[in-house]
Amino acid sequence: MNRTVYVNGEYLPEDQARVSVFDRGFLFADGVYEVTSVLGGKLIDFEGHSARLTRSLGELDMVSPVSHEDLLQIHRELVTRNEITDGLVYLQITRGAAADRDFVFPDPDQVPSTLVLFTQSKPGLADSPQARVGIKVISIPDVRWGRRDIKTVQLLYPSMGKMAAKKEGCDDAWLVEDGEVTEGTSNNAYIVKGGKIVTRHLSNDILHGITRAAVLRFAREAQMEVEERAFTIAEAQGADEAFVTSASTFVMPVVEIDGVKLGGGTPGPVALRLREIYLEESRKSAV
Ligand code: PMP
Repeated sequence: MNRTVYVNGEYLPEDQARVSVFDRGFLFADGVYEVTSVLGGKLIDFEGHSARLTRSLGELDMVSPVSHEDLLQIHRELVTRNEITDGLVYLQITRGAAADRDFVFPDPDQVPSTLVLFTQSKPGLADSPQARVGIKVISIPDVRWGRRDIKTVQLLYPSMGKMAAKKEGCDDAWLVEDGEVTEGTSNNAYIVKGGKIVTRHLSNDILHGITRAAVLRFAREAQMEVEERAFTIAEAQGADEAFVTSASTFVMPVVEIDGVKLGGGTPGPVALRLREIYLEESRKSAV
């Protein structure tokens, strides 16, 4: 495969794209990212991802090297050049490559940020076989830093969490802090009990999922009851159903938590209905 990728203003074959060894994304994980899904050649929830990117950059005193309009244009150009029907666009902005390794931030007027985008083709992304059977999760302590609302590229612990899950024959891990679930390694976590959808309230403790915002809006529009508060693993194990949301998996049913099956071990009706609504509505508003 030789995709076209975008690096600092240029569209290049992936094997010719280069970033400096002094890039602060590489040395300090000093960068932010976004993942936008593509269905039918169009971008899902682009406005939300762009707005969150602006916020992440602002929280870290970073500046975007391109405007919102340019960003949309670059996304579209990559989708077209790489002939993506279903898949993802990954975007990363780092604080650039300073002359030397130094903990102190470089002057943004002297050191431009690094902007990289690439695509991943995933034919049939919305028709995932996993969504029909659901996923199994384990719980692990949440030892990440305290600003999980900023979408940084510090993903080692989430990556370790996924590996711990795989080792136990499961698919993902839910992170637990002070006895309560914060979120999944790369998704927001929900339980459903008596028809009511429960998911952790927004704070610096979790990423403010773009899919979460859309799914909660659609749930409320469909007269489903939503409660935004924290829950424990024990409460989740006693729930009727559970699910996670993210830009790349949409709404994914969870059928087992720490070895305890939920609702007979098959995806629940609320999760499946929300997945259907989310896909239908977001395809309609895709750009
Ligand atoms: N929480 C974490 C920790 C994540 O990494 C992600 C996905 N990147 C999410 C939640 C879901 O966010 P979104 O719906 O915007 O993809």
